[in-house]
Amino acid sequence: MKTIIEPFRIKSVEPIRMTTRAEREAKLKAAHYNLFGLASGDVLIDLLTDSGTGAMSAEQWAAVMRGDESYAGSPSFTRFEAAVQNLMPFKHIIPTHQGRAAEAILFGIMGGKGRNIPSNTHFDTTRGNIEASGALAYDLVIEEGKDSQSLHPFKGNMDVDKLEAFLVEHGDSVPCVMLTITNNAGGGQPVSLENIRAVAALAKTYGRPFIIDGCRFAENAYFIKQREPGQAGREIADIVRDCFTVADGMTMSAKKDAFANIGGWLALNDDDLAEAARVLLIQTEGFVTYGGLAGRDLEAIAQGLTEIIDDDYLRYRIGTNQYIIDRLDAMGVPVVKPAGGHAVFIDAKAWLPHIDPLEYPAQALANRLYEIGGIRGVEIGSLMFGRQPDGSEKPAAMELVRLAIPRRTYTQSHADYMIEAFEQLAAEKDSLRGLKLVKEARLMRHFTCQLQPL
Ligand SMILES: *Cc1c(COP(=O)(O)O)cnc(C)c1O
Repeated sequence: MKTIIEPFRIKSVEPIRMTTRAEREAKLKAAHYNLFGLASGDVLIDLLTDSGTGAMSAEQWAAVMRGDESYAGSPSFTRFEAAVQNLMPFKHIIPTHQGRAAEAILFGIMGGKGRNIPSNTHFDTTRGNIEASGALAYDLVIEEGKDSQSLHPFKGNMDVDKLEAFLVEHGDSVPCVMLTITNNAGGGQPVSLENIRAVAALAKTYGRPFIIDGCRFAENAYFIKQREPGQAGREIADIVRDCFTVADGMTMSAKKDAFANIGGWLALNDDDLAEAARVLLIQTEGFVTYGGLAGRDLEAIAQGLTEIIDDDYLRYRIGTNQYIIDRLDAMGVPVVKPAGGHAVFIDAKAWLPHIDPLEYPAQALANRLYEIGGIRGVEIGSLMFGRQPDGSEKPAAMELVRLAIPRRTYTQSHADYMIEAFEQLAAEKDSLRGLKLVKEARLMRHFTCQLQPL
């Protein structure tokens, strides 16, 4: 069968309020041309993020009712810890309210002035937390990972030669080696098991802890199963275990591949690091058996982790992405290929060559897509990454619009509507103009900045 069907039935629905183009143009102006400033009720299809926007299952809602809200020693924590350790066999599992809280604690211990932290590509909150600690963040993804048209099957891979040179050059100033799976900022592209093992081996040779940012571990494992020689017949859970047994720790946002609306964790094997992390946890998040979460959140995560590794779900998830990308590609829209895990990425630099990178072509594209179809995406380009630690501004490696697909939330007809909006956008694209910044924050400016069309 060719038609992708959602491998679930719908038990509970949320209405979408229809709006007109004129209405949306006014809303966007009032939001200072920053899509983060829109009220969600003014958005028809919200693809701003796949973070925390997934639909929970009947079993997750049932688990929510089992939540035990004891301050210390809750059985909900025990179930959460067991569910995490079933897939990621780390010694210490430290719950946090989101992925970035895990990052803040990790770099609270490992960051600081003079430290240098490599990854394939740091996600924006990871980079923000590293830089806020005074350390510097470096992206060492393979060259194919920066080419939106390369068909390399694992474009999220770390360049291991560059990593080795980095470890030699920076020596003791490298507190850990990170790897983001899948590589969110680099197009949701997977990292192969072979690359994960190679990075782990290098980190070990140079005596550096290896920490995985594992937000989309299940999607990454599905790609390994699909694309990596020798992995085809394996259980997703076994592939996941193989990825994490070679690491010394991980950060996680449960808002991604745990089907939860909130939550995260930091996992570590080292007892001393874990103790330092728990001190910070108690100071900033909460006691060690709940982090910043309610017992019911821990239950939702524990159940979600048993559902995310389902082959039928992952086939539908990746299949929907592939479907959208194939149709946009056929239409001549430059999309990042091959399909990534959680999102469709449009290469605005290639599609809108008439807009200078420092006039934010991807933001202009995302804004027009909202005006046309009420679809909200996000810029991942010079607006997100252009401001340098020294205050200067330089173009990002890529100018992408990310349309992140929430988990189990939208259907195939929503996908068809998106494709139709792109047909309209293709007809209008030559009239698009860039934007200029009116106001920006010191770090992670894209969330709150104000813009004006040129
Ligand atoms: C979402 C995300 C984070 C941060 O997690 P939050 O739960 O949003 O704080 C970190 N790394 C990657 C790769 C992510 O996608």
